[in-house]
Amino acid sequence: MSMPPSALHRLEVELGPRRYPIHIGPGLLGDQALLAAQAPGRHVLIVSDANVAPHYLARVEAAFAGAGKQVASVVLPPGEQEKTLARFGELLSALARLGASRDACLVALGGGVVGDLAGFAAACWMRGVRFVQLPTTLLAMVDSSVGGKTAVDLPEGKNLVGAFHQPSAVIADTDTLATLPERELCAGLAEVLKYGALGDAAFFAWVEAKAAALRAREPTALAEAIARSCAHKAAIVARDETETGERMLLNLGHTFGHAIEAEQGFGGLVHGEAVAVGMVLAARLSARRGHAPDADAERLAAALQALGLPTALPPGLAPEALLARMRLDKKNLSGRLRLILWRGIGQAFVAEDVEEAAVLRVLSGQGPLAGA
Ligand code: ADP
Ligand code: ZN
Repeated sequence: MSMPPSALHRLEVELGPRRYPIHIGPGLLGDQALLAAQAPGRHVLIVSDANVAPHYLARVEAAFAGAGKQVASVVLPPGEQEKTLARFGELLSALARLGASRDACLVALGGGVVGDLAGFAAACWMRGVRFVQLPTTLLAMVDSSVGGKTAVDLPEGKNLVGAFHQPSAVIADTDTLATLPERELCAGLAEVLKYGALGDAAFFAWVEAKAAALRAREPTALAEAIARSCAHKAAIVARDETETGERMLLNLGHTFGHAIEAEQGFGGLVHGEAVAVGMVLAARLSARRGHAPDADAERLAAALQALGLPTALPPGLAPEALLARMRLDKKNLSGRLRLILWRGIGQAFVAEDVEEAAVLRVLSGQGPLAGA
């Protein structure tokens, strides 16, 4: 292989009695033995989408078929609007047509949408079968591949129906990131920086230093960023599986970010971009409330800009409307705003009962020191 061994990483996720490996590195989809070993049974259903399948599906099919498996594939149209009960039903029908038994294996080849759908089908087919993730977006590699959340959307809201179902393995081939649209790559980098911002100042500094290499998709840098991000998420999730304490910190920037996503609708910022803006707002609010130095908020904004991400609210979003969305956040307790703020880079914490006036000022674009 032409790749240096330093681009290869393997880590174990441990969740209670469950344990699964994450393999990270270039060329992994070409490792037929590694792929085939994931499906001990006869039947394999591969789920992908129309952007990903033309590049990578044939070699994944070949790996399983070459090992004598009975393989079927479902290629969905791309996009979050496909994460429906109807598509979920199509996957179950495909499993039925395949004659899939309890030892079947579902394989998700794609981003978070494909992973959520295939994972939910795996959780439900015969009350749960094996599930292997082959994430092809940076976001899916660093976020959705750890934690075991699967779901579909309803017209009434996102992720309303789902299950916890841990994969039996995650195989992240960093070569697949070569075809990922620039914007999706940068969106994933927002979540990478988040791990540093919330709990690891040294990792934050590493991402800052590697910003150009990461954007240039330098394989060694990407593999290390993914491995360190997964290790952070795995450690946090393992310590707090039920999301009562520390795991909430993973939502840094997300209460603001979800409000932005919900308020602007289709064609606006993608998730990682909204989270980037949300993290800056959380940092500004932290400074305004006296928790953290203003300089840390500015350093965060500069780092995000270097990663190709927005740091200011898109025009046309009313602060009152955003605040109204934030009031609906699941983390809130009895009508009080609960937000993830920080004491500076690497030191996020859960802030209870945050006063709405301060949030509104930050949403109105007033700097942390304005009026202080
Ligand atoms: P997420 O960002 O949650 O992982 P998606 O599954 O929606 O989300 O993927 C984002 C977009 O990128 C989709 O349009 C998908 O088809 C496309 N995509 C995913 N992986 C790749 C890839 N490796 N190359 C090209 N396009 C990809
Ligand atoms: Zn996120």
